Amino acid sequence: MQLVREVRDTVGGVTDAVVVGSGPNGLAAAITLADHGVDVRVLEAKERVGGGTLTSELTVPGLLHDECAAFHPTGVGSPYFQTLGLEEFGLRWLWPEIQLAHPLDGGRTALLWQDVGRTATGLGADGPAWNGLFERAARTFDDLAADVFRSITHVPEHPLELARFGLRSLWPVPWVARRWQSDEARALFAGMAAHKFGSLTSPLSASVGLMLGAAAHAYGWPVAEGGTESITRALVGRLELTGGRIETGVRVTSYDDLGEPDILILDTAPDAVVRIMGDRLPSRTRRAYRRHRFGPAAFKVDYAIEGDIPWENPEVLKAGTVHLGGTLEEIVMNEAKVGRGEMPDLPFVLLGQQYLVDPLRSGGESGLNPVYAYAHVPHAWPGDASESVTAQIERFAPGFRDTVRHVHVRDPAGLQAHNANYVGGDISTGANDGLQLVMRPRVARNPYSTGVPGVFICSSATPPGAGVHGMGGRNAALSALEERR
Ligand SMILES: Cc1cc2nc3c(=O)[nH]c(=O)nc-3n(C[C@H](O)[C@H](O)[C@H](O)COP(=O)(O)OP(=O)(O)OC[C@H]3O[C@@H](n4cnc5c(N)ncnc54)[C@H](O)[C@@H]3O)c2cc1C
Repeated sequence: MQLVREVRDTVGGVTDAVVVGSGPNGLAAAITLADHGVDVRVLEAKERVGGGTLTSELTVPGLLHDECAAFHPTGVGSPYFQTLGLEEFGLRWLWPEIQLAHPLDGGRTALLWQDVGRTATGLGADGPAWNGLFERAARTFDDLAADVFRSITHVPEHPLELARFGLRSLWPVPWVARRWQSDEARALFAGMAAHKFGSLTSPLSASVGLMLGAAAHAYGWPVAEGGTESITRALVGRLELTGGRIETGVRVTSYDDLGEPDILILDTAPDAVVRIMGDRLPSRTRRAYRRHRFGPAAFKVDYAIEGDIPWENPEVLKAGTVHLGGTLEEIVMNEAKVGRGEMPDLPFVLLGQQYLVDPLRSGGESGLNPVYAYAHVPHAWPGDASESVTAQIERFAPGFRDTVRHVHVRDPAGLQAHNANYVGGDISTGANDGLQLVMRPRVARNPYSTGVPGVFICSSATPPGAGVHGMGGRNAALSALEERR
């Protein structure tokens, strides 16, 4: 409470704020403001708090499926979450034995362990080059994160580390992969880079893979015990400690309904900001937000299976995350197709076996286990990709089909209906390419500012982009507080 009193003085008396949207960024913004003595109300359109962090019984009673986010390299490594003591509010991270597996045809498999040396050993002759790329980045990850999890326009705290990392990030994925000879090492990197969605041959396309690889070796890719929603429960507990309030079932459509708060922070897509703010938005911001491009989509398939997945290579059964997409060349080709609006026969699939480290996920009477998967498909793709997802799993785990008892499917339109920020099924709330990869949602000194005094945007359309890390919310709230000083 000492903190609250001190900062209340610095913002000059009691300030009131509304945060629209209760995703991790909205909650992080609300906590930051409440910690600074601001009277905060969070308004959430849905009946449940959490946006992309919900966990639900999607297939059969007792089986817990992560509806959106599942693995949390950026959550456990978030410079802001680390300050919040979320463990005191019930959050417990659980690490799989192997962070990531990438099977190839014929039973060959690349394995990513949290220990960079062990990963390098497994990659044989390509090990030293893997070590060379990731050992230092993992060791200095916190320094790197302090700069990368902010706006590109800030003065770097660790310019040397940022420059080393930044130079490699400029490269297309195949250029970075030239240092490896084996399909295993090249595919392992391509799978991480594919989290960018879309073209992997454009400049800067290596950046996401480099960051996720560094995070994997620094912090691992853990899951949250009981489901990703535990992160939200902890954030809500932390917010309530300083008096923040949340109202659910309130879809905000106009600024006029908000009672002119001193601070308004929008955890929404840029086009929603345009609708909510109307003519109050400067025309340059309105134009930029309307130009904000959305990227390829996810097609989510959740399975209830009997037993475990019969992977051709049993080592894969020790991994939390599994990337299914074959070689680097195949992944690059299929991501390019998805970026062009074409549906590949066998799209890139991310599969999650959270239940292996978190038996709570397999509760209930059914005796079944929950398996999480989503494919990369074109933006707003209207077809049914569930058979392609099953076929991609079956390719590396013959007999998988026979283990499936129930399936729950959510297509791009369903994702958008579930969360208005996922426009056309784009789970990053904006394409990760071109200038937009580094300057989003518009080119501005402060990307969180809407140009209206007191009004800021904080969703994953802002830096540092998608992920359950809360950094967009934290940065936007600090901007709002700074403006009032
Ligand atoms: C299938 C899938 C898999 C993913 N996997 C991972 C993963 O493994 N790891 C990871 O870190 N991230 C993952 N993500 C991404 C992650 O979920 C998002 O980047 C993150 O949730 C973004 O947080 P946010 O606060 O910006 O917005 P969101 O979490 O999207 O929350 C926005 C909230 O705002 C509300 N809202 C929107 N408009 C309004 C309005 N007008 N009025 C009131 N409320 C409104 C929405 O209902 C929603 O609750 C995944 C996402 C999906 C969909």
